[in-house]
Amino acid sequence: MNKHIVLLPGDGIGPEVVAQALKVLRAVEKRFGLSFSTEEALMGGCAIDATGEPLPEATLEACKKADAVLLGAVGGPKWDNLPKRPEAGLLGIRKALGLFANLRPAVVFPELASLSCLKPELVEKGVDILVVRELTGGIYFGKPAGEELREGLRCGFNTMIYNEDEVRRIARVAFAAARGRKKRLCSVDKANVLEVSRLWRKVIVETHAEFPDVELSHMYVDNCAMQLIINPAQFDVIVTGNLFGDILSDEAAAVAGSLGMLPSASLSGTAAQGGTGLYEPIHGSAPDIAGQNKANPLATILSLAMMLRLSFAMNEAADAVEHAVREVLREGRRTGDIARAGLQGEIVGCSMMGDLVAAKI
Ligand code: NAD
Repeated sequence: MNKHIVLLPGDGIGPEVVAQALKVLRAVEKRFGLSFSTEEALMGGCAIDATGEPLPEATLEACKKADAVLLGAVGGPKWDNLPKRPEAGLLGIRKALGLFANLRPAVVFPELASLSCLKPELVEKGVDILVVRELTGGIYFGKPAGEELREGLRCGFNTMIYNEDEVRRIARVAFAAARGRKKRLCSVDKANVLEVSRLWRKVIVETHAEFPDVELSHMYVDNCAMQLIINPAQFDVIVTGNLFGDILSDEAAAVAGSLGMLPSASLSGTAAQGGTGLYEPIHGSAPDIAGQNKANPLATILSLAMMLRLSFAMNEAADAVEHAVREVLREGRRTGDIARAGLQGEIVGCSMMGDLVAAKI
């Protein structure tokens, strides 16, 4: 079973971190007797430089044919004032691949607990949350939206709308993810105020019938924002709409700590449905440290682990990658961004961090 992966290294630290994930992938091949073909394509500022477009047609075609895509990061000051910005490539690829589900784990590694913005006693119980955010619907895309004069006053308006199919498909992704974890799903809405949330809740409850082994709960978004801070250990998987998910996934990231540690996946369906997946660290291109071998590649390496698990159902290989990351952290090896967490070992560069993780596979 030869899986084909398109690599989109992008700009800034993107190429550095993707190169480390590739080392880890090659180590996974050796250890598990697997074989992956890979192909690099241009996206972002580098693609604008080469072709004038942030998402060239050739890249899009390659991604559509791939089994999965691994992205570094795009953007940087060089392209900030162009009419077509590198970030437009991100929106374009999400749309073209139909990536409606965004999965962001927020894990507090015990070795890095001091990076969390929360007190140690709140995180030492173990925080391992997966936020599943609907990515292509809701208020960011609902029509009508605009600005107009009403009774002589300028008014801005948007529409928060979900149809039942949009809710059902994100619910299935979230229930399926919960099934592979601690089997607890919390659906977050504002059903006490919003009609759109009442439909959301009804469809979530209906879909639960397909996943009776998963425990379902509901929480209002304002309460969830508070609970993430006062008792993050209570959560396993959270599923929510686009706007609430945008905010809560960033909040969960702050609970976890460093940007350099946080992976993500965007899917067009569950693995069982044969959906395509785009995997990327949540950080940007970090122009301030680009080309200096200082970037933390672990978010990208952990994104690769998500790919192995979610797109290829290679759970053993995914476990091995995550375990290797933990081992390296346990030994006290840190890139600069995570070094303040009680360093007992040494600060290593991006490339060395990749070598260390690959060696542990
Ligand atoms: P950023 O995430 O690139 O950087 C924020 C800070 O975190 C910087 O100090 C950076 O050095 C540090 N940092 C980020 N990732 C790190 C890593 N792996 N290791 C060590 N330190 C790391 O955010 P920004 O500065 O707001 O944006 C820079 C550029 O990236 C902008 O052009 C922005 O549009 C783009 N961006 C792209 C994506 C993406 O490709 N998905 C996401 C966010 C921002």
